[in-house]
Amino acid sequence: MKAAVFEGKDNIVVQEVPDPVLQDGELLLEIEACCICGADLRTYRHGHAKITPPRILGHEFCGTVVETRAADGPSVGDRVVMYIVIPCGQCKYCRAGRANLCVSRATMSYDFDGAFATHMKVPAKAVAGGHLFRVEADISSREMAISEPLGCAINAHHNRLNIGLKDVVAVIGAGPIGVMHALLARLQGAQKVFILDTSESRLEMAKAFDLDERIIVSSEGGHIERVKELTDGFGADVVIVACGSPHAQIDSLEIAAKAGRVEFFGGLPKSSPTAQLNTNHIHYKEITVSGSFSEKMSDFQAAQALVQSGRFPADKIVNKELPLEVITDGFHLMEEGKALKACINPQL
Ligand SMILES: [Zn+2]
Ligand SMILES: [Zn+2]
Repeated sequence: MKAAVFEGKDNIVVQEVPDPVLQDGELLLEIEACCICGADLRTYRHGHAKITPPRILGHEFCGTVVETRAADGPSVGDRVVMYIVIPCGQCKYCRAGRANLCVSRATMSYDFDGAFATHMKVPAKAVAGGHLFRVEADISSREMAISEPLGCAINAHHNRLNIGLKDVVAVIGAGPIGVMHALLARLQGAQKVFILDTSESRLEMAKAFDLDERIIVSSEGGHIERVKELTDGFGADVVIVACGSPHAQIDSLEIAAKAGRVEFFGGLPKSSPTAQLNTNHIHYKEITVSGSFSEKMSDFQAAQALVQSGRFPADKIVNKELPLEVITDGFHLMEEGKALKACINPQL
């Protein structure tokens, strides 16, 4: 089969690799769409402590079952998306229903080869664990592929941010994840939704969505004042930091209203993971700060159902489709803010 193999920093090579051979319980997908994630970009540029090359990346995918050696699970011909976290099932967090926090989790594209390839093998444990969700609507594979990142966003919202009719929401970061957060806020009934970014081109792309205000963040400032201006001086009730910038984390506490909720969605680079936060904002304004990482199966299920319903503008989020051969072009387009989310179609 053909695959894009990550061989080390700045080095992804599209090549012929041996076809996967199925063991008992495993299943083979023909990949129709696999979106490029920010995590793929970071791994491509900087490597990843948990990824040992050579490894096929890509974990936001949709494909069709072409072979199965599993007694249960989907059949040949079924189109599916996958919950990619394979937890131990035994640890404290797994027992609490928080498999995303499992102490010995395995993940597609980290511990197993991912979906930047014509085909991908699904581990037996995932098939048996019900990780494959059938697509039961006439919706493109490229749209369904965003179920995975959307589930991660839902993990931050459900039972945590509790956005509703009384909330003004500001999202810092207008990449695909920021846009998904903003759209989820809108769907949940937020009064106003703002999106902020340092990149003019990303804010330009955000025009495709029903948001109240796009605010440029520049070194000269003005963006914090703009949020205050738009909220009668109060600030935003919910601030979601959807980028890996310490400045954004610092700003989020300034932008938040009293009794606000602030979510640190994006992690900071492991080499410089600290931000100089003014924690007095948390104290005096009674702000609740939350973090979130990955997703539980229930988050993925909710995302899959939402995309499948057609009520989420997945087609506008995935605004570029490319064949596998030019996968690195897709990486560059996203880095340069020229594509919101690029999707690889290995069948092209
Ligand atoms: Zn991802
Ligand atoms: Zn566990």
